[in-house]
Amino acid sequence: MCSVGGGDFELEIEKIEVERYRCNNCGNKFDAMGEKVVCPSCQSENVVKL
Ligand SMILES: [Zn+2]
Repeated sequence: MCSVGGGDFELEIEKIEVERYRCNNCGNKFDAMGEKVVCPSCQSENVVKL
């Protein structure tokens, strides 16, 4: 149990939060989670959290 910089890391594994996103590239709306979200339709990283 040693903390190496990322204090919340273990908590995020159990608590999965799905967020609603919209793609600025194609306008697709989708649910996603995690830090690196890409549009499932066009694979663009130009997405915004709603
Ligand atoms: Zn898209």
